[in-house]
Amino acid sequence: MTTSIIIPKSLLPQDGRFGSGPSKIRQEQVEALERGGSTLLGTSHRQTPVKQLVASIREGLASFFSLPDGYEIALGNGGASAFWDMACASLINRRAAFGVYGSFSEKFAKSAQSAPFLEAPVLYRSEPGTFRLPQFTDNVDAYCWAHNETSTGVAAPVRRVEGSLEQDALVLVDGTSAAGALPVDVSQTDAYYFSPQKAFGSDGGLWLAVLSPRAVERAERVELSATLEGARRWVPPFLSLTSAIANARKDQTLNTPSVATLIMLENQVRWLNSNGGMAWATARCAKSASTLYNWAERSQYAHPFVTDPAARSHSVVTIDLDDAISAKQVVAILRENGIVDTAGYRKLGRNQLRIGVFPSVEPSDVAALTAAVDYVVEHL
Ligand SMILES: *Cc1c(COP(=O)(O)O)cnc(C)c1O
Repeated sequence: MTTSIIIPKSLLPQDGRFGSGPSKIRQEQVEALERGGSTLLGTSHRQTPVKQLVASIREGLASFFSLPDGYEIALGNGGASAFWDMACASLINRRAAFGVYGSFSEKFAKSAQSAPFLEAPVLYRSEPGTFRLPQFTDNVDAYCWAHNETSTGVAAPVRRVEGSLEQDALVLVDGTSAAGALPVDVSQTDAYYFSPQKAFGSDGGLWLAVLSPRAVERAERVELSATLEGARRWVPPFLSLTSAIANARKDQTLNTPSVATLIMLENQVRWLNSNGGMAWATARCAKSASTLYNWAERSQYAHPFVTDPAARSHSVVTIDLDDAISAKQVVAILRENGIVDTAGYRKLGRNQLRIGVFPSVEPSDVAALTAAVDYVVEHL
């Protein structure tokens, strides 16, 4: 079906990686890997050089997020998906409430639903392309939602549910495709967790979390309760948040991490901070995102999927195409021209482009992308 269309070189972005995760890794990060080739790669994560790397990541993130007093950075293997199960095992005491508005926010809710020692969670659902925060609910001890729903390109506010502090409930926010790209006040959360293969342009397999003292205290209490006689809860060692915290405080992880992932992450955190930290990174992503939304609003054949401008993500931009134009075909032609990972989220099933505009992506490349898409559509 595809008659190949060759996009003129002058219209092509310098770098064609627009994935929503894994996302573009900068050349300097790859060079950092080469520099660490003999001193870090293939060396023990329990010795000073790798521990210094982890310390630099923790200090850099503390600075990036302007860590409130008493908050700390923990990390471990398994990615954000592992953190969901860790939260079920080590943070949710009896019952949680969830905002559910796409695949990722749904997955955490499903984990809680299937944990036999938790009560059925309360779900506050809304349609894909919108968001819904969990509302105040009696007998709930954790409120959970995603800052950025990567499957739909929706950004949700991050603020404590009113009354949640009084009922001693935690706020657990999935920041996976938001952290490093969208502004956040982490004091509004007790756990703001993410994986590094999105805005932090590293590889997957690791989770990081900004934890409040209340979250640390909760994990201690919940894990202790699991050791009591007759307790139904099982906290597998791998899902113990208290061991992750104890290791993080020593700049280590419970089990062996990917040192390459740490090297690329450390380089990215330093790059973000040296350019101006959160203010710089979020302005850069906002600029790239507005290039795409403005282009789509002017376009004859494309329009932003998210109708509420305030809910449009600045890190993952979703653009619907008119039915007359096959997004699948456009995505395939872009790929033939070296512009990759622009497809919509498969399970959402829309005629859509989805563009990751994380800090590593040059805003000028985003502008070039719009011209390249126009060229392809004109020549279909
Ligand atoms: C990518 C993503 C995840 C899953 O991250 P993994 O590292 O694959 O576990 C979870 N939540 C959101 C919002 C994501 O974008």
